[in-house]
Amino acid sequence: GFKTGIVGLPNVGKSTLFNALTRTAAAQAANFPFCTIEPNVGEVAVPDARLDKLAEIAGSKAIIPTRMTFVDIAGLVKGASKGEGLGNQFLANIRECDAIAHVLRCFEDGDVTHVEGRVDPVADAEVIETELMLADMDSIERRLQNIVRKVRGGDKEAVQQERLLKEVLAALEAGRPARSVEVTEDDAKAWEMLQLLTAKPVLYVCNVAEDEAAEGNAHSAAVAKMAEEQGAASVVISARIEEEISQLDADEAEMFLSELGLEEAGLDRLIKAGYKLLGLQTYFTVGPKEARAWTIPQGTPAPKAAGVIHGDFERGFIRAETIAYDDYVGLGGEQAAKDAGKMRAEGKGYIVRDGDVMHFLFNA
Ligand code: GDP
Repeated sequence: GFKTGIVGLPNVGKSTLFNALTRTAAAQAANFPFCTIEPNVGEVAVPDARLDKLAEIAGSKAIIPTRMTFVDIAGLVKGASKGEGLGNQFLANIRECDAIAHVLRCFEDGDVTHVEGRVDPVADAEVIETELMLADMDSIERRLQNIVRKVRGGDKEAVQQERLLKEVLAALEAGRPARSVEVTEDDAKAWEMLQLLTAKPVLYVCNVAEDEAAEGNAHSAAVAKMAEEQGAASVVISARIEEEISQLDADEAEMFLSELGLEEAGLDRLIKAGYKLLGLQTYFTVGPKEARAWTIPQGTPAPKAAGVIHGDFERGFIRAETIAYDDYVGLGGEQAAKDAGKMRAEGKGYIVRDGDVMHFLFNA
């Protein structure tokens, strides 16, 4: 599955947020109770109103949302790249994630100690980013040494690696993260193999006080500006509120949200933003038994998309019958869409689109 690592300085609200994420009613209702893989790893349902709509039309007995994984990566402090705190272990945990949700303290509270002694989320973001950049530089220098011999011997892959490594090292030395480097299609594979921490997409999570959840505050506005300049994403959330909401049932939660002037739980926005950040999209399978959402990266061809359900679907793929979400809902279901000529037969080359309702035909 796809994993987002939650990072941030100590005392910014990471654990509060993680607990809320993994205990939320949506996670529970998802037919797969929040499963503790490890104490700091949780799976959450990706909220998607389209799935409920499809289930309603088809009269599906069960609704099974797609899910994504969050990892609470505590202990990242200044000096982590030099092994301070629990440095190396945590850097290794981040390396395994597909994206980073960076929690920033945007709330003032004299009772909660700030490790740097002041509330300044933009500066905090730089502290963490600097550690990650230093860790990347370390690993790049090690790699460069390791391939010296191969490069001299004219090994093509090693030469390509060296060129990439030198390019990204120059960016890091100029204070820019690896994600600022533009990578060509030809280099994409080699680039991924480098597994650089600052190459991962970042979502800034502004943790504001309870009464600021709707509008944010000056701190979160500064973060939003920084995120925009970096081409990163940001969301405003109150971890405290989310923690409270996670203990309510769906109706109570809705009432609580409207009292606060919020349209949607912050966690829902966070999960959706994480999903988008990862370049993911959803297709559906819909029948009387269940309506289910499945996650694929954008640009996935039909056989590979089928493989997410079962390996046999991919190996024995014949074709897919596809109805776009809007057609399915607009026309009132599968049969009506079919009658209107909106069910398409698609072959191996079909690139699945977000919202497609899919039916796969395959040789067992
Ligand atoms: P972590 O070290 O980043 O995991 O931070 P925690 O989630 O443990 O939170 C540190 C402290 O800050 C706890 O006492 C939380 O209750 C408190 N806290 C978290 N979010 C908020 C918030 O939005 N407002 C206030 N006032 N306190 C918060």
